[in-house]
Formats: sequence, C-alpha cells, structure tokens
Amino acid sequence: MATTYTAARDVTRAPEDLANLIDGRWVPAQAGGVVEHRDPATGAVVARVPESTPADVELAVEAARRAFRTWRLTPAPRRAEVLFRAAEILTRRKEELARRMTEDMGKVLEESRGEVQEGIDMVYYMAGEGRRLLGQTMPAELPNKFAMVVRDPVGVVAAITPWNFPFSIPTWKLCPALVAGNTVVFKPSTDAPRLARDFIEILIEAGLPAGVVNIVYGAAPAVGDALVRHPDVNVVSFTGSTAVGKQVAAAAGSLMKRVSVELGGKNAVIVLGDADLDLAVEAIAWGAFGTTGQRCTATSRVIVERSVQAELERRLVERAAALRVGPGLEPGVQVGPVIHAGALAKIAQHVEAARAEGARLLCGGSRVTDPALTGGHFFAPTIFTDVTPGMRLAREEVFGPVLAVMPVDSLDEAVDIVNGVAYGLSGSIFTRDVNRAFRAIRDVAVGILYINAGTTGAEIQTPFGGTRETGNGHREAGTAGIEAFTELKAVYVDYSGRLQRAQIDLDLS
Ligand code: NAD
Repeated sequence: MATTYTAARDVTRAPEDLANLIDGRWVPAQAGGVVEHRDPATGAVVARVPESTPADVELAVEAARRAFRTWRLTPAPRRAEVLFRAAEILTRRKEELARRMTEDMGKVLEESRGEVQEGIDMVYYMAGEGRRLLGQTMPAELPNKFAMVVRDPVGVVAAITPWNFPFSIPTWKLCPALVAGNTVVFKPSTDAPRLARDFIEILIEAGLPAGVVNIVYGAAPAVGDALVRHPDVNVVSFTGSTAVGKQVAAAAGSLMKRVSVELGGKNAVIVLGDADLDLAVEAIAWGAFGTTGQRCTATSRVIVERSVQAELERRLVERAAALRVGPGLEPGVQVGPVIHAGALAKIAQHVEAARAEGARLLCGGSRVTDPALTGGHFFAPTIFTDVTPGMRLAREEVFGPVLAVMPVDSLDEAVDIVNGVAYGLSGSIFTRDVNRAFRAIRDVAVGILYINAGTTGAEIQTPFGGTRETGNGHREAGTAGIEAFTELKAVYVDYSGRLQRAQIDLDLS
C-alpha cells in the first residue's frame, strides 16, 4: 500500500499578537522586536511573537524577585488551590488548546489532546503536593533535642522550554516550582508560542498573583543566556537539545546555580527472536513516526535478533507505507509535518549520510513533494536497515520520522549497542522470556525502560529523565519532580536548656 497524503486546509484566521508578561501586565518587547510564527503544515502565519532582549529579562526577573517575598509565605495548600482551579479551567478548554497546539507545532490533533491531558494531569498532581511537600523527622542523638528536615522554596526559577511539548513540559516545571513557593520567569520556545500564553492566562484566571510567573519570549540565544546568567535567578530548569543544554549547564554551574537539564535521546527498541512481532511492529511504528519522530523519547533504533530481522522489516515497511501523512487537523492523518524548513533540511542530511555510509533504505527517504502539501514541511516515514553502531544514524538524534534497524546475534550485543551512544533517555525490549526481560532491566542504562511496550508513553507520576548526555541527573514529574525546586533545611531544636555538643557529650556509662 502506498503512503497517502492529505491536502492542507485553508487557514484564514488572522494571526494573533502575543506579548511578554511582566509583573501581571502583557507588554511588547521593549526594543519592539517581533518574529512571525508559521503553522508548519500550511505555512500560514499564526502568531506574531515578541523578540525580546536582555532588557526584558531584567524586568521579568525583578518582578519575580519582588513577588517571591509574598508568594513564599502564602501557605502551600493555598498556592495549590490556584493549581486545582487552573486544572478545572484547562479541562473545560482542552479541545481549543489542543487545536491551537496542532496549528502551532504540527502534531496530529489526537496527540495534541493527549498532551493537553498530560499537562492537566500534572497540574492536578502537583496541586496535591500543596498538602504534602513532605519533610522528614529523625531521632536526635542527644536527650531533649529534636531533628527535622523542612523544604524551603529556592527563589526565582528560570524555566526554558522546547517547542515539541509546548504545554506539558511547562507544566512539569512551573507546577512543582509554584506549589513549592518559588516564582518563575518562563521563556517558552517561539516555535510553538501560544500554549505558553494560554497556560499562564489560565493560571491568572485561577488566582495567580501578579509577578509570580512572568513570560519573556525570544528566539535569540542571548535571551535565554541572559536569563541563565542573571544573578537573581536561583534555579535553571531547561529542556531542549543537548548542544544548548551543555552551554546552559556550564553557564549556570559556573555561577553555582541549581541547574536541571533534560536533553536529547537516541532511543532503542530491542526485539528478541521470541517477541510478539505484531505488538512490536505497532509499538515501533507509533514510537518512530508518532509526533513525526519529534519526541525526545521517539524510537530511532530497532535492535533486532537476526532470526526475526527479515520478517520484522517486512511488517514495519508495510506499516510505514500505510501511514497517512498530512496536516494534523485533518481527520485520519497519522503523521504531521516537521517543525520548520531547517528541521527538514537536517533530516535530509541524515538520510544522505546514512546512504553514503552504506545503510540500506527500505522505504521513504525524501521530503513529500505532493502538490496538495506545498507550504508545509512534510517528510516521508523512512526506514533504513543494516545500520551499524559507527554510523551517524546509529548515534545522532535525527528528530524526524527516520528509523534505523540494527541486526544483532544476542541480547548482550543488543545491550552494548543501546548503551553505546551518548544518550540514555528511554529504551524498550520485546520478549516473552522473563529471564531476558529482567537482564534487560538490570543492564540497559536508561532513565525510562519499557518491557513489551514502545519507547514513548511515560506517565506523570513516574520520574522522567535520562542518563549520560540526556541530562545531569535530575528527574522531572513524579515525587522526584519537586526536588529541583526545593532546598532541604535540617533543623535542630534543643530544648535541654544547656549546651549539648554533638558527637562529644556522649554519656556512655
Ligand atoms: P533547543 O535546544 O533549540 O531550544 C530549547 C530552548 O532553549 C528554547 O526555548 C530556546 O529558545 C532556548 N535557547 C536557545 N539557545 C539558548 C541559550 N544559549 N541559552 C538558554 N536558552 C537557549 O531545543 P528545541 O529544538 O526547542 O527542542 C528539541 C530538543 O529538545 C530535542 O533535542 C529533544 O530531544 C529535546 N527534548 C528533551 C526532552 C527531555 O525531557 N529530555 C523533552 C522534549 C524535548
């Protein structure tokens, strides 16, 4: 069956003019800069976005610093009520938000709905933290003395986010930061700008005081960099590419700031000879071509035992060829556009490099030139096989609908290949052998591992993040998600009325 393409619909709505948010007021960038953002499926301008400068960052950080004085003293259950109310508003507006997400960054509508739901789940989950924010108590070693650990907010948080999850990733950062009593300067990606505005508007409608969250838009690295380096920013929470994340971690680290970076992936599915191939094919196609391969957890490598290689490839090609490519708002479309022309060019370069290095193309391999889709950035679902560990396609993040099949002779060889790249975000294994599944659980060095499921589909109550160059050891979501935004304070209360010296005044008689 041939891949089918669906024509882009006409977009007639006028573009929206976005603004920065400083101390509760929506304002243009001080220098007046504006960039246009286009729907990647049609090329239509959907928003005009402020192109800020470090002067805007300055005002935003000042406002957040001022707001911190009172927000940190607002009881956590009261802070959480703002999140609960916001979650209710978000639930009512889910469909409208999902459609705007698809227009902004191209993912198909069903996936946009899923992402909005993920964000709503996170807002509710972190609202629950308002009545937990658990500390610890432990026995003191001396009589009439009490020891405990409490959580303090850290201060002003810089939240810097990518375009591919323009709603859920901001909720992963802002909700734990806010419930813990921090204030925020939020720099969303200008490549998917409107959901950031929508989310904060809803928080304000839910009762968030002025200055507690401020938004500074800006595509230029200078804007994010000014935020990272600002002396009044205490925490940097960054999600994006490994190249930029390394710069952010280095800059923030040299200034002794708390910094959490969540970066790229090169995620692999291992398919063993005894796997349920129907299940594996469904999961691989969804992981590789869902969100057009533009997820940090996208499946980009399939490491398959040779005994089932040919059959797996045959079924994967059949599945890829049957996918409907087109604008994400069209019913029935399964693969949307990639984000912009630069991404399309980068994907094409990876395909050329794979060909030149000797990988064998099984399907796809070029941009979609169907006349119905002119104006959008569409690339055909692509599968290469006989990819070897040294090839670029086996090592580098493509961030597009391109899958590399790598044959192996054993689980040990597969594990070495999974672990042999710079990234360690998610991984998966398909097998019916419980012993080999548990060996994979022990040996695969990733932050998120799936048994008999694909590489995507994390739930918000489990920690999210990866090993090696996928991050610097922090995790978002789950109970771990609060850690980056709280300072642990050990408190001793000595009610003996005399000087008691720890480790020295021991009565051993
Ligand atoms: P990007 O690194 O280009 O941009 C991310 C953000 O950083 C944007 O807001 C950008 O404006 C800002 N930025 C750019 N230069 C900066 C600088 N010098 N200092 C501070 N900020 C700066 O990434 P992208 O293209 O928006 O997103 C795609 C990447 O994000 C992929 O590599 C993907 O794997 C990764 N990602 C990771 C996760 C995760 O949780 N591990 C989740 C989603 C996406």
